[in-house]
Amino acid sequence: MRYHNITKDDMLNGDGLRVVLWVAGCQHCCKECHNPITWDPDGGLPFDEAAKQEIFEQLEKSYISGITFSGGDPLHPANRADVRSLMEEIKAKYPNKTIWLYTGDSWEDIYQYPMMKFVDVLVDGEFHIEERDPQLLWKGSKNQRVIKVQESLAKEDPTIPILHCGDYTREPMTAPQTLQDAPVSSCLL
Ligand code: SF4
Repeated sequence: MRYHNITKDDMLNGDGLRVVLWVAGCQHCCKECHNPITWDPDGGLPFDEAAKQEIFEQLEKSYISGITFSGGDPLHPANRADVRSLMEEIKAKYPNKTIWLYTGDSWEDIYQYPMMKFVDVLVDGEFHIEERDPQLLWKGSKNQRVIKVQESLAKEDPTIPILHCGDYTREPMTAPQTLQDAPVSSCLL
């Protein structure tokens, strides 16, 4: 797995203050994706032990709510195995921290992935410029969903997910930023 950045004290990509891992690699090619630089799975830097320790240092802090995996797409085939094993390690080491995952894939196609047992909240779906609304909570376009993963998996029919929140449950967030100045998921643009 390769990555572009690790951002800290992030308030824009999930509940509370979070550490965010921005991985390289995405195959969704959404129209007007703001960060196509993240599409190349060979871009960025190798995710090494030092990068992992940088994340763990953040998760040690009591005020950090958890980690968000974004990109790029953490479920790109080049990332899936490493993301799963990192999630497993984080859940074992920091059981009280939450894991959020952004992906261009749809819930119906991925809910059976083994890694979902480690995910608390999933923001799914490709970014649709026609449905863009900068005031949406945690997502960039109306088609995307913010899903409570464990509660959805526990349902008799998990294909109909339980949502973590509505579309507009608080004041509008600040304007999206770019990967270059203070990275925000291209999926939020
Ligand atoms: S918006 Fe997200 S899912 Fe779509 S191409 Fe960009 S990084 Fe990939």
